[in-house]
Amino acid sequence: MTRTVIPPREGRAVIVAKGERIIIATPEGRQAADFFAFNAANLGEWLSPNHTWITNFNTKPREGDELLSRFRRPMLKFLRDGADGVHDMMIPACDQFRYEFFGHKGPHASCSENLCVAMRREGYEIDVIPQPINFFTNTRVEHDGTFHSPPNPVLPGANVELVALMDLICVVSSCPFDLNIDGWEINAGAEITALTVDVSCTGKD
Ligand SMILES: [Zn+2]
Repeated sequence: MTRTVIPPREGRAVIVAKGERIIIATPEGRQAADFFAFNAANLGEWLSPNHTWITNFNTKPREGDELLSRFRRPMLKFLRDGADGVHDMMIPACDQFRYEFFGHKGPHASCSENLCVAMRREGYEIDVIPQPINFFTNTRVEHDGTFHSPPNPVLPGANVELVALMDLICVVSSCPFDLNIDGWEINAGAEITALTVDVSCTGKD
């Protein structure tokens, strides 16, 4: 097993071969994990929450679901949910513009920037920010279509387990959203914490 620690407010890439399992955890709880995945053989094929939810008929990822690329090919399978279903596939990655929208002045760390930096460290320059799957992120669509993010209930040690169905470059970002906005609590208020990503071969530790 190989463990990667994602420091608070940062992102890291992990290389995952077909058949390997990935466990993403929030050791302290309530920390949103933006998850991106690219086909290692073709960076133009990336994980697409939109194509995933319309195929699985659920706006949340659920145990047993295949997670699809924008070409509707299975990239990963969601094996086990240790976070009671508190995940999101609606919110784009946060970026500088999102923080400025809420009145923040000056540069702010973001999942979009974290993704670019993590991929650059692997030697890849990307010019598109794909939609992430936001694990440990509490969002709700109401009957009238309104959408909000209630307080995050994810417990310390919560985790999700996935298996790669093709060779992948995955990026996980510890979402640095730390603004106090009524009805929009992505993390636990201003507290941003680390994440861990464990990659292990099937049947081995
Ligand atoms: Zn973010």
